[in-house]
Amino acid sequence: MNSQAPVSRVVIVGSLNIDLVVNVDRLPGSGETVFGNSLERHPGGKGLNQAVAAARLGATVSMIGAIGDDGSGEWLRRVVLEEGIDDSGISIAPGTSGTAVIEVEPRGENRIIVVAGANESLTAEAVRMAIESFDDVAVVLTQSEVPLDAVRAAMAAGRAAGAKTILNPAPARDYPSDILANVDMLIPNEHEAAEMSGLKTGSALDTIEVAQELNTRGASCVVITRGERGAVWSTAGNSGQAAAFRVSAIDTVAAGDAFCGAMAAAISMGEPFPEALRWASAAGALTATRRGAVPSLPMREAVEELLANN
Ligand code: ADP
Repeated sequence: MNSQAPVSRVVIVGSLNIDLVVNVDRLPGSGETVFGNSLERHPGGKGLNQAVAAARLGATVSMIGAIGDDGSGEWLRRVVLEEGIDDSGISIAPGTSGTAVIEVEPRGENRIIVVAGANESLTAEAVRMAIESFDDVAVVLTQSEVPLDAVRAAMAAGRAAGAKTILNPAPARDYPSDILANVDMLIPNEHEAAEMSGLKTGSALDTIEVAQELNTRGASCVVITRGERGAVWSTAGNSGQAAAFRVSAIDTVAAGDAFCGAMAAAISMGEPFPEALRWASAAGALTATRRGAVPSLPMREAVEELLANN
């Protein structure tokens, strides 16, 4: 990555969750009680995952979101600060922090309950004010685990600040055209792309056609991620593929978050699109080689090494 380029800020607007993972021999049936073997607590939420992904690649990152006034909220803020992420845009809402309760059987079968908690209280006004408080915003990246009004404000304020605006439409929703009109780059995975377009993804060429359809909705650049098959992209008049890096994948959780965070980081450091796409693909691939979400997000050195050897 070009170390001479001026470093500007990546602002991530999104969810912060505490993931409670319970390992059980067998998931309980209705009305049944079973003993869990272990209870782990991990930071999570797509917003926080993507902020950590960008920060570990050396970007200057600010997170905008909401945590509860409970112990989990304090813990999440500590995680943010330990990763070197600016927390000035994280507000405290009365009540619980976003929480995911994840029950996992040894063979991987799982059951997940997500309580949006404080994430649901993030307002458009808070997002706008936080973005306006920075004078060096290069990229604004958001997902859809916060209210649609907050997503709308993120893309509008990012555009007004002259930043590159990126939407990772996860989970997929019906996005009104006024939001998509302010999106420079849309990064869905192939399921989200199919849901948004109403078209089928399949081969790389089919998927490029889906990206082209999504271009007509507003985003001038659409990148669709396809797991171990890499990614395809489309802009007005141009399209192509980015091959996946070959790795021994063991757990692809957060690969998409690594991809989006790395894309934002690379753009903020002045990398041209083809190079940013390679950074994103390398970060996604490395994340698939380790278990978990935040623990699996790679550091800059690991990404540089993978890029240098390919
Ligand atoms: P999501 O997690 O949103 O479903 P994907 O699974 O499409 O996202 O992964 C995002 C990107 O991460 C892919 O485009 C690819 O570059 C990289 N990636 C994911 N899984 C693998 C894998 N098994 N091998 C190599 N790269 C991968």
